[in-house]
Amino acid sequence: MSGINSQCIGCGTCAAVAPDLFKVEGIPAQIIKKLAPTDAKSYKEAQSACPVQAIEDF
Ligand code: SF4
Repeated sequence: MSGINSQCIGCGTCAAVAPDLFKVEGIPAQIIKKLAPTDAKSYKEAQSACPVQAIEDF
């Protein structure tokens, strides 16, 4: 289930990697759109880049 868990430290990496999917204005970061299958690649790039594994599986 996609989502951002309580491990998030608000580093901003996800929003830098996939600004169309994530915003970081507080902790935890937020997913800013209803995810579609075409978002999987960007989502997974951000998930891989998150330093604390806070982004749940797509
Ligand atoms: S990359 Fe991970 S820790 Fe950083 S803001 Fe995004 S979800 Fe939070």
